[in-house]
Amino acid sequence: MPSPGMGHLMPLSELAKLFVLRHGFTATFIVFSDFSDHAQTAFLDSLPSGFTYVVLPPLPLDDVPPDAHIETRLSVMVERSVPHVRDVLRSLRRTTRLAAYVIDLFGGETLPVAKELGVPHYLLFTTSFMALSLLLHLPALDQATSCEYRDLTEPVVLPGCVPVRGEDLLHAMQDRTDDAYRCVLNIARRIREVDGILVNSFVDLEPAAYAALKEAEPEVGRPNVHAIGPVIHRGSRGGAKGNECLRWLDEQPPGSVLFVSFGSGGTLSTEQIKELAWGLEASGRRFLWVVRCPSDRVASGAFFHLQGPDDPLRYLPEGFLERTRGVGLMVPLWAPQVAVLAHAATGGFLTHCGWNSLLESFVHGVPMIAWPLYAEQHMNAVMMADGLGAALRPKTAADGSGLVRREEVAEVARELMEGEAGRKARGKTRELTQAASQAVAGSSCKALAEVAQFWKDNASMGDV
Ligand code: UDP
Repeated sequence: MPSPGMGHLMPLSELAKLFVLRHGFTATFIVFSDFSDHAQTAFLDSLPSGFTYVVLPPLPLDDVPPDAHIETRLSVMVERSVPHVRDVLRSLRRTTRLAAYVIDLFGGETLPVAKELGVPHYLLFTTSFMALSLLLHLPALDQATSCEYRDLTEPVVLPGCVPVRGEDLLHAMQDRTDDAYRCVLNIARRIREVDGILVNSFVDLEPAAYAALKEAEPEVGRPNVHAIGPVIHRGSRGGAKGNECLRWLDEQPPGSVLFVSFGSGGTLSTEQIKELAWGLEASGRRFLWVVRCPSDRVASGAFFHLQGPDDPLRYLPEGFLERTRGVGLMVPLWAPQVAVLAHAATGGFLTHCGWNSLLESFVHGVPMIAWPLYAEQHMNAVMMADGLGAALRPKTAADGSGLVRREEVAEVARELMEGEAGRKARGKTRELTQAASQAVAGSSCKALAEVAQFWKDNASMGDV
């Protein structure tokens, strides 16, 4: 059961494909009503045989404040889904041997249903071991900390992880009085209840963090962890619009284009869009930018509603499109990201540091500019830039605006594409490409096979 959002459905479906195609399972997705302009339905309909899906009835969020954090909105939706999930699981169990019930991070409130029915319950953790380690330590960190995390004078050091400043911890941890923080604490409590955690990362990416988690497994409340990544969506060419941007890439020199995209739901403020545009133009480098309408309230502004009536291009500086014609291509709303990253013309990726985007980037050897917006993206940025050296991180202005100014954008874009720091990041990223492909064929493949065998041995059926 993926929680709402394509960024959650895609990794879970890729995981399911491995179980279906490699290990002979069938998979049923329990999905939330399609709020993403039918992208979800189209995606599910395109899955091969062996997959079915059940759509939950609409679960309105009218009573949730419009500026509530994404964590709050997701948690509320999942809480409201529980009776429906119970119905679906019961009905499935009448006709099918249920091997496992798999949730993602926000699905924890539905776990009691799987427990009631005696179905093994697993979590697909769609981000890093470092973030998992943070969640497993969060109850203790919460107890031990009296101030806001961003006011901590020392960085937080998780076992085997690069130190993280308080302000780079989860977005939802930044205000301990906010509902979102309560949601994260609840998630941290829930993840201890699963039978196992399948982590979409791989041992060689985070060897020390993985080792520390494995070592802690025998402790009470520490589920087994399995490194099964990178599991990435191989992507399609994305119809006519996608084809247009790939054709444009065909005409660009190898490694020359900076791909700019903020994931499935990321948006910038009105002013930040303009600064980014001026900066890309001033860099003189080629770019392909997936552009969305601004959101001045929340950085996850497109998460629930990708397609509005508004034209995103109208928020760009006056004359920008004309001046950058030939050098830059603007793609409204959505691009076939994996195909773009796989294209020989793509030489850099300015990314919001969503975990899938990062995995996709180093599977294809594309170095990054880390531009985190929300969720655990700041931690991911720290890992990519400070920990692994695979990304450059632009500085926000010292004026307290939180903006990355045009001069900084231009400089970091030039540096990534042609500078010494960019060359190093490219080298590091290529090492990760190699390590990722070894994991897919080796350690992660073996870990998944072990889980599959365990599920087969424990599949249950009953008339409940
Ligand atoms: N994606 C895409 N085209 C876009 C934006 C996103 O194909 O224009 C895909 C991307 O390849 C990735 C997923 O959507 O697989 C986004 O997941 P990620 O974890 O990077 O970020 P999230 O959307 O969850 O913030």
